[in-house]
Amino acid sequence: MLLNKKVAVITGGAGLNGLGFSTARMMAAQGARVVILDLAGANPAAAAAQLGEGHVGLVADVTDKASCDAAAAAVLEAFGRIDILVNNAGITQPVKTLDITGADYDRILDVSLRGTLYMSQAVIPAMRAQKAGAICCVSSVSAQRGGGILGGPHYSAAKAGVLGLARAMAREFGNDGIRVNCVTPGLIATDINKGLIPDDKMKAILEGIPLNRVGVPDDVAGCLVFLASDLAKYLTGVTLDVNGGMLI
Ligand code: NAD
Repeated sequence: MLLNKKVAVITGGAGLNGLGFSTARMMAAQGARVVILDLAGANPAAAAAQLGEGHVGLVADVTDKASCDAAAAAVLEAFGRIDILVNNAGITQPVKTLDITGADYDRILDVSLRGTLYMSQAVIPAMRAQKAGAICCVSSVSAQRGGGILGGPHYSAAKAGVLGLARAMAREFGNDGIRVNCVTPGLIATDINKGLIPDDKMKAILEGIPLNRVGVPDDVAGCLVFLASDLAKYLTGVTLDVNGGMLI
C-alpha cells in the first residue's frame, strides 16, 4: 500500500461528495490513518466513521489559528506523528470584480489562503522533527486561467496565492525533508458547483475540455495520493493540473 500507517490530515474533508472526503477514502484504502478536519456543521466525526475503524474526525476552522493549532495537537496526542497534510478546505462565490465587497474578499481568501498557511504552520514543527512530511495544497484552474467557470476574481486570487505560498514553503522546508506540492483541479462535480451550471454553459465548458467530461472527486484524490506518497519523493514545488486538458 502506498501510504501504509502514514497519518494524514485532510481539511474540509467531511462533505461526502467532496474532493476532501474522496481523498480521505483513497488514503485510508492505501493504509493511511486519516484525520478529517471540518467545521462543526459539516460533522467530521460522522464522515470519519464512514472510513471504518482507526480514523478520526475533528472540528476545526482553518481560518482560526488557535483552532488549527489545537487540531494538530490533538492529532499528535492521538497518533504521535503527522505525515501528510492536505490543505483542501475552500469556498467560492460567483461574483464580478466590481461587486466584491471587503467582507467577500476576506471570507474567500481566509479559507483557502489563510487556512493553508495556518494549517501548514500547525503541522510543520512535527514534520520538521520527523525530518519528513508531505503537504498537498488544493488550488484551482481558476488561478491559472483567471476564473471563468464559477469562482469570482477573489477566488482566483486566493487560489493563485496558494500556488505561491506552496512553492515558497517547498523552498523553505525542503532541507527539513518536507515536500510541498499542489493540484489545480478543473471542473469537478461536487457540492460546491451542484446545480449552478445551466445546460448551455455546460456544453460550452465541455467543448473546452479535451477529455470531454467533467471531473469526479477521485480524479483529484488519485493525484493527491500520488503526491503524498513516496512515489513522488523527488517532487516538491510542483503543480499537477487535474483538469482533463483544459489548459492545452
Ligand atoms: P466542498 O464544498 O464539498 O468542500 C469544501 C469543504 O471545506 C466543505 O466540507 C466545507 O465544510 C469545508 N470548509 C469550508 N470552510 C471551512 C473552514 N473555515 N474550516 C474548515 N473547513 C471548511 O467542495 P469541493 O469541490 O470538494 O472543494 C474542495 C476544494 O477543491 C476547495 O478548496 C475548492 O476550492 C477546490 N476546487 C474545487 C473545484 C471543483 O470544481 N469542485 C475545482 C477547483 C478547486
